[in-house]
Amino acid sequence: MTYDLIIIGSGPGGYSAAVRAGQYGLKTGIIEKDPKLGGTCLHVGCIPTKALLHSADVWEYLKHPEEQGMRCDNPQLDFKAVNDRKNKIVAKHAKGVEGLMKKNKVEWIKGYGRLKGKGQVELISDKDTQTLEARNVILATGSEARMLPGLQPDPERILTNIEILNLAAVPKSMIIIGAGAVGVEFASIFNRFGTKVTVLEMLPRVVPVEDEDVSKELERHFKKTGIRVETGAKVGDIRNTGSGVKLNVTLSNSKTEAMEADCLLVAVGRKPNTENIGVENTRVELDRGFVKVNPYQQTGEPGVYAIGDIVAGTPQLAHVAAMQGMVAVAHMAGKPAHPINRNRIPGATYTDPGIGSVGLTEAQARAQGFKARVGKFPFMANSKASILGKHEGFVKVVADEKYGEILGVHIIGPEAFELISEAVTAMEAEATVETMMGTIHAHPTIYEAMGDAFNSVYGLAINI
Ligand SMILES: Cc1cc2nc3c(=O)[nH]c(=O)nc-3n(C[C@H](O)[C@H](O)[C@H](O)COP(=O)(O)OP(=O)(O)OC[C@H]3O[C@@H](n4cnc5c(N)ncnc54)[C@H](O)[C@@H]3O)c2cc1C
Repeated sequence: MTYDLIIIGSGPGGYSAAVRAGQYGLKTGIIEKDPKLGGTCLHVGCIPTKALLHSADVWEYLKHPEEQGMRCDNPQLDFKAVNDRKNKIVAKHAKGVEGLMKKNKVEWIKGYGRLKGKGQVELISDKDTQTLEARNVILATGSEARMLPGLQPDPERILTNIEILNLAAVPKSMIIIGAGAVGVEFASIFNRFGTKVTVLEMLPRVVPVEDEDVSKELERHFKKTGIRVETGAKVGDIRNTGSGVKLNVTLSNSKTEAMEADCLLVAVGRKPNTENIGVENTRVELDRGFVKVNPYQQTGEPGVYAIGDIVAGTPQLAHVAAMQGMVAVAHMAGKPAHPINRNRIPGATYTDPGIGSVGLTEAQARAQGFKARVGKFPFMANSKASILGKHEGFVKVVADEKYGEILGVHIIGPEAFELISEAVTAMEAEATVETMMGTIHAHPTIYEAMGDAFNSVYGLAINI
């Protein structure tokens, strides 16, 4: 039997592509090496972290009930119950993915998949090794945490995004290396659960891919809430002592400091899973381990596509993986396929306050020669933010002076990861700042701050 499509990997990229292929009537199989479908995002990424983040949000309210005009004596954090809740959510959605495969007549093929040659995929399972035939293959093998040289993950002391999700108790102290999305999200979660958190970042600012004002605001808030943040920091001599972790860090002022903590989270980026998937048998080209693709996600090997975290040049995000899957399947099925626009990919970083962003930062817009006009509106002046007691942050709009084109929107504050959808839609629909100024925003809402921010590009915000 020849499949129309075999997908290797069932993360958000792979399973979304599988559903779409099923909808188009392609005979599809999805190979997964792990016992469950769903990949990094569902099992050790997006979903469990956001479940913990929600618990941290609720716990924050319980710790300071007086701010809501309430009393709640002696609140208790039951970390086992928090983890059980998280695990239940993950298990529910893993079943959901299984259901989606059945509903769309996608065959779940258990085992390890690798390209074998033209139109062939080798399947290595517990039972045997077979060769499957396919007209098209999508590589969706995802990524894993990079480790620092000489370090080994350890269930209690040297953690990646996997071990940290299985801790039996809230650690008293934690050092986090890396202030990208993964590092700052765990900092935000564990700080609020009561861990003394230190974040060490080699670059000059936290969340370095975000607009500089966003980085400043997050660092300010982190410091205010007791997280120690050291940027421009170089870490060395990391030792797992069995009862904790010790390391030396050279700070930005060139002083060296010895630090220790109960555990260390290594959050220094994610390496693409492109070793041992048979690309050497093909014309698939790699760039520092990432797969090179054209706008339709095609690799250099005819009939082989790549999507998600393994792809060169696009951010490692679940929604990017899923959309790339749609593009690849539409292309192979001869349906209209709309390549990803790199500039309209929303980024969401789930800290407190949260971050949502799309498009060019102010610095990028100026570097690209735009006459950038910036509007900024603080949540301090938004009435719903006051009602929620969440005043931190702002909405920043970067626009081109000439036609009022929206070049980028950068939000840090309450529900920033939800609010960014308005900016993404506006940019996708090629709405101008003027269109957004004339868009009615319901009152009182957090998203009214968006309307005010668009107005502030021309100095016309009402609420400040
Ligand atoms: C802590 C953390 C939090 C995150 N939070 C977010 C978030 O909030 N929002 C967001 O958009 N992104 C988030 N991400 C990133 C997101 O998880 C990834 O971008 C996304 O999972 C990538 O999807 P993918 O389909 O490319 O690969 P993956 O989800 O990594 O899935 C790949 C799958 O392929 C399987 N596989 C690999 N090799 C083989 C093989 N040879 N044969 C068979 N199966 C194989 C793996 O077992 C895995 O199931 C987070 C990541 C981490 C680590």
